[in-house]
Amino acid sequence: ASTPTDSPTIFDKIINKEIPANVVYEDEKVLAFRDINPQAPVHILIIPKVKDGLIRLAKAEERHFDILGRLLYTAKVIAKQEGLEEGFRIVINDGPKGCQSVYHIHVHLLGGRQMEWPAG
Ligand code: 5GP
Repeated sequence: ASTPTDSPTIFDKIINKEIPANVVYEDEKVLAFRDINPQAPVHILIIPKVKDGLIRLAKAEERHFDILGRLLYTAKVIAKQEGLEEGFRIVINDGPKGCQSVYHIHVHLLGGRQMEWPAG
């Protein structure tokens, strides 16, 4: 976890191709790439290309309805692309208590192993 900030993050550098990422999906609004520290055989981050103040889910406003829907819909598209027919997990970490470390909203797509609930 880290302190919430409106400053640019490492994800801006990935969007701007200033640092490399293993991109699995891209369209005009959304970018998805493999997590550098995977917690499952498939671990992908899905992010909006334009942050528009959405540093965390807690900052969501009505103007974000479209992008929030796109992030989840893209997770489903990528899950199919990755062969996760038997299921997967979607996670959004919010804020310090939610273990968020990068303040540019992102959906984690995890799969390829049996998940536990409520933890793991
Ligand atoms: P959070 O903890 O904010 O929900 O998740 C941030 C995620 O970004 C972590 O899972 C972390 O491994 C990943 N991450 C951080 N820096 C980079 C990077 O430079 N490249 C990639 N591909 N993932 C990153």
